[in-house]
Amino acid sequence: MARESDQFEPVIGLEIHIQLQTARKLLSPEGFAFGAAPNKWLSAVTAAHPGTLPFPNQVALEYAAKLGLAVGSDIARVSRFDRKHYFYPDLPKGYQTTQDALPVCKEGVITFFLPDGTRKEVHLDRIHLEEDAGKSIHDQDAYDSLIDLNRAGVPLLEMVTKPVIGSPEEAAACFSAVRTLVRRLGICDGNMEEGSIRCDANISIRPVGTERLGTRVEIKNLNSFSFLAQAVHFEIDRQAKALLAGETIVQETRSWDPAGQVTRSLRDKESAEDYRYFPDPDQRSLHLQEADLLRWMAEMPSLPHQQFERWTSTWGIAPAEAFTLLEDAERADYFEAVAAFGNGREAANWMLGPVQALLRQQDTDSVLPPFAAEKLAKLIGKVVSGELVHHAAKEILLPALFQAPEKTIAELIAFLGLGQSSSSTELETAMQLIMDQNSDEVKRYRQGKKNLTGFFVGLLMRQFGGKADPKDVNEVVRRLLENG
Ligand code: ADP
Ligand code: MG
Repeated sequence: MARESDQFEPVIGLEIHIQLQTARKLLSPEGFAFGAAPNKWLSAVTAAHPGTLPFPNQVALEYAAKLGLAVGSDIARVSRFDRKHYFYPDLPKGYQTTQDALPVCKEGVITFFLPDGTRKEVHLDRIHLEEDAGKSIHDQDAYDSLIDLNRAGVPLLEMVTKPVIGSPEEAAACFSAVRTLVRRLGICDGNMEEGSIRCDANISIRPVGTERLGTRVEIKNLNSFSFLAQAVHFEIDRQAKALLAGETIVQETRSWDPAGQVTRSLRDKESAEDYRYFPDPDQRSLHLQEADLLRWMAEMPSLPHQQFERWTSTWGIAPAEAFTLLEDAERADYFEAVAAFGNGREAANWMLGPVQALLRQQDTDSVLPPFAAEKLAKLIGKVVSGELVHHAAKEILLPALFQAPEKTIAELIAFLGLGQSSSSTELETAMQLIMDQNSDEVKRYRQGKKNLTGFFVGLLMRQFGGKADPKDVNEVVRRLLENG
């Protein structure tokens, strides 16, 4: 059904804040960690005591450059910090150190895939370095607001896309791809509950077929992919209804209320000049060396979108499986190492099925099995070639490998007596014997108690200690009972 709002199309631009995993803050000596006692991670520099001077973190600059290299940005060999002024209690200096005129990275492209596998590209405006602010806590004291400066000065990258995203789903997939990318590069832990990566969404709508951008509304601090999609959906609808009712859209900042499923106005958007940006006179410019850039480029790992493309096109992995396998960089590499031995499709099944299930049972946070990728590849190879019954490999060999990861597959196969799969003559002989010993049950089966099949399957499986393929066992049981 066509709706009136269908005459509009949305335009979305994202600002993604990425907290960098560095040992110390952006400009000061202290470290930082989520969930510490208030103001544990605080130095005189961060508290803005007079006479202190900032001391830029080179690793944060390195991480900015690495992300820029990964998305094909123009990397500024010389960039600069600017002061962005605003007054807020959790910003002791009275300005935020950020980059305005000379950011580390300009332009670039995020390549990613929608849930159905469609390839998309979103062009970037810039990626710049800045410091995070502290937190004001309003709900712990009856009279006063409290300030926790643990997060103040923590290094962030702000990635700003161009206004080119065409749907809520595309926005969520883009945000998700950025999270996977920064985790893969090892520059951010991607923990969304702790706010390590969060997103502001800018949304406007325009009549379908027109060029000029409408007035945008910014929704702040979305820390989940579904919140992002829901908030953008709501906002598109809200704006369309307003325009159709003859109202104008006010440029403003809103927040998403997940409980009420609505966006709410926070404040009118400050225009850029309100911040009175100017170059930080306390700081020298930031320099990147050509040799370092070349080395980081050479050391760049396989990127998630490249892996996604390789896996789905060469091994027929479904998009949903590829997204899951990509979530963790270590696991993605492990999977790729297993798949490189030749059975990519099977490798995905094993990783997402039995391996995942056994990992969950272990008392460990590890996303990787305790044995080399080559061993899993060997196990899979033996199943594919028919040397091992799938059931035995899954139920006996794989758990044994988790128990004794240092053993080779050959050793375990010999030890467990999994040498060869039970041939159907072996199964038939054993079944014949079982039928002779249970002639009453055979008779009752033949009189119509068909659910006795399970009884015989159980006996026969037990005899082969799980080494026989349940499919074959079922087939032999049925055939012999029927052909009596
Ligand atoms: P600011 O720094 O004031 O937030 P920017 O010009 O840097 O403003 O834009 C911030 C974000 O808003 C970018 O992601 C950009 O793509 C997006 N944006 C800008 N104009 C529009 C618009 N008319 N509709 C949707 N998004 C927009
Ligand atoms: Mg903004």
